[in-house]
Amino acid sequence: MSGTPERLEEVRAEIEQAAAKSGRNVEEIELIAVSKAHNAEKIREAMAAKQLLFGESKVQEARSKIPLLPSHLRWHFIGHLQKNKVRHALPLFELIHSIDSVDLAKQVERIGKEDGLFPRVLLQVNVAGETSKFGFKPEALIESMEQLLEFQRLSIEGLMTIAPLATDAEKSRPHFARLQLLRGELEQRFHLKLPHLSMGMSDDFAVAIEEGATFVRIGTRIFGPR
Ligand SMILES: *Cc1c(COP(=O)(O)O)cnc(C)c1O
Repeated sequence: MSGTPERLEEVRAEIEQAAAKSGRNVEEIELIAVSKAHNAEKIREAMAAKQLLFGESKVQEARSKIPLLPSHLRWHFIGHLQKNKVRHALPLFELIHSIDSVDLAKQVERIGKEDGLFPRVLLQVNVAGETSKFGFKPEALIESMEQLLEFQRLSIEGLMTIAPLATDAEKSRPHFARLQLLRGELEQRFHLKLPHLSMGMSDDFAVAIEEGATFVRIGTRIFGPR
């Protein structure tokens, strides 16, 4: 079986292929190595293969792991963020991908103000309307946008989605396309820029890149099963 560095190289090559196929500049696409449920040693293996950006989905786990690792690593939070964990999360993560309610945004704004931070965030969208998933429904996000834009501390930089579990990556395509359309609609209606689209995981990242992803979040393909 190949190790983490080899798998990282494979994934990077596939990212380049997908970018080339869709006529995109590969530099617009950043790979987040999703290290949740993997230990610091695994992360060091990826680091040795020049991976510096990692994704975690639990604040507790991140709080114990991040201090064990060099401080030049960068961390993104990709899981559901509980309001009582916001204060711990903000100083650890350069980007929160998962603002999934106005209430959570309000809490991030409040803690940001108290702690002197300007949190960078993405808004999580439940494009397929699955009851099991967190995130704004597209219509609800359009309705909430004005309120979200009033927060002075939040830097809203784009949208994130998780496609429904599927056996075929092509099944994810319409959901990714929908997120890109929604981004365009929000930019027009509210006169703003939302440069980032966080979409695509181990099984469907190539399709996500073809549909405009700027962040792909890949765990299993890099680190193996959790
Ligand atoms: C776990 C996770 C990933 C990575 O999933 P893989 O299938 O292992 O690549 C990506 N995004 C989110 C939000 C996750 O929770």
